Amino acid sequence: MSSGNTEKQIMIMQDYKSTALVCTPTYAITLADKMERMGIDPKNLSLKVGLFGGEPWSESMRKEIETRLCLSATDNYGLSEVIGPGVAGECSCKCGMHIFEDAFIPEIIDPETCQVLPPGSVGELVLTTLTKEALPMIRYRTRDITSLDYSKCDCGRTMVRMKKTMGRSDDMLIIKGVNVFPSQIEEVLFAIEGCEPHYQLVVDRIGAMDELEVRIEVTENIFFDEMKKQRAFLEMVEKKIASMLGVGATVKLVEPNSIPRQEGKASRVIDKRKI
Ligand SMILES: [Zn+2]
Repeated sequence: MSSGNTEKQIMIMQDYKSTALVCTPTYAITLADKMERMGIDPKNLSLKVGLFGGEPWSESMRKEIETRLCLSATDNYGLSEVIGPGVAGECSCKCGMHIFEDAFIPEIIDPETCQVLPPGSVGELVLTTLTKEALPMIRYRTRDITSLDYSKCDCGRTMVRMKKTMGRSDDMLIIKGVNVFPSQIEEVLFAIEGCEPHYQLVVDRIGAMDELEVRIEVTENIFFDEMKKQRAFLEMVEKKIASMLGVGATVKLVEPNSIPRQEGKASRVIDKRKI
């Protein structure tokens, strides 16, 4: 289907009784939102499985997609420089993505020193292609931070599993000297009932001080008229973010659908700092 034209995507799903959906997790949510607005019950579609990837997403987002689209959602990994989607994918155990080791040799390195790290360490994933023709990749630095699990998987496959990427070695934010991955904030937000998976981080520097603002879209039913309730909610979210990151943030509620949507990957971070 390629990307875009959400209504047409849904029409095709209905007409062809599509059983599999392959897209970014953000777009899966966009599809669910659109279906809701169009009054289409996903139960009446034929979807069984969803292969999602292309951006970091949390377990809570998986649950939301599975519930709202009535399918089993798996995480998948790939990058266009190497092959696109298809480097690694989850089996039905959903406990790590099996890397197709017949086609790729994975390594984990320290992104600072480039040294190969022992099995199980967290570091940058490096890939070497074994079957790619014309443009083979030798020890290609993906910039994705993850770790490899060599233990036996319940599904019986022996291929190594990579953990969900924890961010990129180059999109990590340093706020007040603390390393912050947007995916950590995502994890906090999704765990709080009422938060839509649409958020934006705005980083600025006031004087010498970094300021982090988290803008969250809320659902209509928790868009309180009462200032007191709203303040208590904001304080609760701020506390959770501070304990997760070790650095404080100002949380701001914004109206539903006010954070710009993209058909593909969501742009989560606006860094206004001039360093
Ligand atoms: Zn498995």
